[in-house]
This record gives sequence, structure tokens and C-alpha cells, in this order.
Amino acid sequence: MIDLNHGSGAQYLPPRALPDITAALCAVIDSGLTARQGRERPRSYVSSSGLGRACLRQIQYDYLTVPKDKGQEFAPRTLRIFEAGHRGEDMVAGWLRQAGFDLRTERPDGRQFGFSALGGRFKGHIDGCLVSGPVPMAYPALWESKALGASSWKDTVKRGVTVAKPVYAAQIALYQAYLDLPSPALFTALNRDTQEIYAELVPFDAALAQHMSDRAVQVVRASDAQELLPREAAEPTSVVCKGGMAAGHWHPPCAWAQRCWRAER
Ligand code: SF4
Repeated sequence: MIDLNHGSGAQYLPPRALPDITAALCAVIDSGLTARQGRERPRSYVSSSGLGRACLRQIQYDYLTVPKDKGQEFAPRTLRIFEAGHRGEDMVAGWLRQAGFDLRTERPDGRQFGFSALGGRFKGHIDGCLVSGPVPMAYPALWESKALGASSWKDTVKRGVTVAKPVYAAQIALYQAYLDLPSPALFTALNRDTQEIYAELVPFDAALAQHMSDRAVQVVRASDAQELLPREAAEPTSVVCKGGMAAGHWHPPCAWAQRCWRAER
């Protein structure tokens, strides 16, 4: 038995240095995540979540599940960030319910509420609907929730969701239209680093919803006709293609850039 009493005189060898296990651990976690991602069925519809992106051709590649360029699949670390985001949204939903909101996030069968249009080729799924609550606002209201990294969160607080995150604003407008929830939507953003919450009421923008819906129709019709939609950019060096900030908006690098610029037009 080990004698741990102070002054017992027992002598122990210093702890043995063990090999760094981080790399080995992350490798097995990441291969599990990659395998799980590989088992997921690709989406076969235009999703409301990406319809506000700048380039229609990019949205079309996504809709047609065209393989991404080599090395452009989501990295395991990105998959971890996505999952943390989803869990952050679940936490905020729990906090809202605890605060007294009647928040509906899923149907009795566990599926999310959503809409389906164009024969199932255009779909969207909402985070939830607030039926009543302790804060004075119009009910029922759409609830849209995001968990953001610190700098993205700060930018959203500073400029508001419509200006800072037009892709989210497009999503919100579409949901308000298709789910017939015209009251201002409650947008919440959780700071993933500090757990601060930003909330904003977003009025229904019918023109934006119509414009986004028209884009979905454009993507589906062009795809049916086997036509490639035009590029948004004139050069492959455009930030829309290679990623970066332009006119105050962040564009992630396009995952089909090589394929796109290999095409004749
Ligand atoms: S590379 Fe640029 S133009 Fe081509 S699909 Fe991507 S974003 Fe659009």
C-alpha cells in the first residue's frame, strides 16, 4: 500500500513522462467524424440555408451534389465547430423554455418544422416557433438561432443581422414567408467563447423572401434544363471565389472554384 502520510519517509520515483497523446486522440476522433459525415446522405434540394450566398452557380453545384474540388470537403475541425454550433442552439432553446417561453422546435414525431416547395426540390427547416413568452413581442414568431465565434458575433452585434449576415437574413425572410409567420422574427446569436447572447427582432422583408424564392426557382429550372448558371465573379481571384471580405461581407472560399473556372463559361 502507498504510504502518503507527511513525513513518512517513503521515497517515490518522479512520474514517468508519457508520450503526447493529443495527436493520436484527435486522429481517431476525426476519422470517426469523417466516417459519420461520409454516411450522411447528400441533400437533394435547394436549401434555404445557403440561398443567400452570392453566387447562383455555387448554389447550383451544391443542389446538384457536384463533387467538391479535391481537399475542399469539410475538415474534421470544421465538423466539430458545426456540431458545437448545433449544441449551442439547443442550449439557448433550453434557456428560453426555462425562462417561460413556449418554444416549439419539433413535431410530435421529432422532425423539425419546415417547408417544402417546387415538388420537394426547395426546402427549409426552422429552429423554432415562439408561441408565447414573458417578453413583450408579437407572437407567434419565428425563432432563428446561431452560435458564432467571437469576432463574427461582435460584428453581428455591431451591424445587426441583416447587414452583417445577409445569408441568415435571407433564411429568416424565407421562413417567415413559407411558414406564414409575418411577425418580427426573434434572432438570437450565442457567442461560443463567452456565452453572451445577442437578440434582435427582424421585421418581415417580403421583397427579400420573394427574391430568394425566385433564386431557388432559377436554380431548379436551370438544372432541369441542364444549363449551368452564370458565374457571379468575372475573375477566379474574386473574393467570392477565393474567399475573403468584400463590401463588408465575408465569403468562404468556393469549394468548386477549380471545376468552375475549368468550364468554358
Ligand atoms: S468559383 Fe466563383 S464563380 Fe465559380 S461557382 Fe464558385 S463562387 Fe461562383
